[in-house]
Amino acid sequence: MSAVSVEEHAAAVETLLAALGTRTAQRIPLAEALGRVSFEDVRSPVDLPLFRNSQMDGYAVDSRSVTTTPVTLEVSTIIAAGPTESAALVTGSAAKIMTGAPIPEGADTIVPVEDTTIPSEGSVTIERGRGAGEFVREQGSDVRVGTVLVEAGRVLEPRHISVLAAVGFAEVDVRSRPRVAVVTTGAELVDAGSTLTPGQIYDSNGITLAAHLRASGAEVVVVARSSDDPRRFREVLDEATRSAELIITSGGVSMGDFEVVKDVLGPLGGTFGSVRMQPGGPQGMTLFDGTPVLSFPGNPVSTVVSYIMFARNIVRRAAGLPPVLPSTATLHESVVSPPGRRQLLRGRLRDDGRVELVAGPGSHLVAALAWADVLIDIDSEATELAAGSDVEVWPL
Ligand code: AMP
Ligand code: MG
Repeated sequence: MSAVSVEEHAAAVETLLAALGTRTAQRIPLAEALGRVSFEDVRSPVDLPLFRNSQMDGYAVDSRSVTTTPVTLEVSTIIAAGPTESAALVTGSAAKIMTGAPIPEGADTIVPVEDTTIPSEGSVTIERGRGAGEFVREQGSDVRVGTVLVEAGRVLEPRHISVLAAVGFAEVDVRSRPRVAVVTTGAELVDAGSTLTPGQIYDSNGITLAAHLRASGAEVVVVARSSDDPRRFREVLDEATRSAELIITSGGVSMGDFEVVKDVLGPLGGTFGSVRMQPGGPQGMTLFDGTPVLSFPGNPVSTVVSYIMFARNIVRRAAGLPPVLPSTATLHESVVSPPGRRQLLRGRLRDDGRVELVAGPGSHLVAALAWADVLIDIDSEATELAAGSDVEVWPL
């Protein structure tokens, strides 16, 4: 692979990862379904309301007995919300009833408590009558059994979870998440929180890629690190293939002496070379024991730019999430760019809607990446863009 365009490399990655898009159903507790994607249309197994019930605290009566008001009726029973024996209304009486309680046979309207007075214990005076059907919630008036409540492919939000619980689902079938492993490489890397010895740095790519993957709807099954020793790298890869459908590596793909990823995967049929973009030029891909491996360069900014340009939307699509697409923004300042390479500069959207640069193009500038909210996409042909030019920007 010698110096291909971003589009060519993206197309090759797309082919390598084609199988990731075929998902199965996974049955999970509804309580854990927030943010997951429904696997198929979910139909209601019941009517809602489940039974005819009162919309008000008041008195269930036959509307014909309250046509002339005021009228005083005997209170024959009290019906609370909750398990009840269904009893018919004693003709000519009123049943005291609470919101949500089942309405007795023979009653067709609810007189709200506000429209009544109590003349003596055991009776009620209806001051204002109600017509048939008022404050009555009929069974099935919200949804009928068999109605589709949530369509296939919906990202489940609290409102969807609410209706699924209301019709009694304790579990729901969701789209399985693509299972991804992250493998960082480099003899210099240690976990954040450890004590550094000279020459060591904290491994930030592992945790960063894992966060990006989770944000894209993936299940991160492994986050592991290898030294630059080929044997150790192979061990870590072997481990990752046990659970992952995709392995993303960082580091070890450039032109140095200890490029463990390239050294191990190149001879196994991997493609390693250069993509005409900056940052993120050195890229690799391979099938390792049948599992696709994408290899990104180790500079933290390069790793993130690689993920965004080559993997994010593929992972999102597999997860059932919509793609993150670029939008157009106007440059606040002029930009120079090396010819022949697509540049992805860190930018920040201003309140006036324009986009400004955050620090320089260096791929080691992690802090600038945190302060940026977009990548400014500068065409490979462009060498200089004046302030006021329109550019594409990718959300970070
Ligand atoms: P490499 O691609 O392995 O040549 O690494 C390029 C640069 O990125 C070097 O300065 C590495 O120390 C740094 N680097 C590589 N991997 C990581 C990582 N996981 N976290 C932070 N920096 C890294
Ligand atoms: Mg390295």
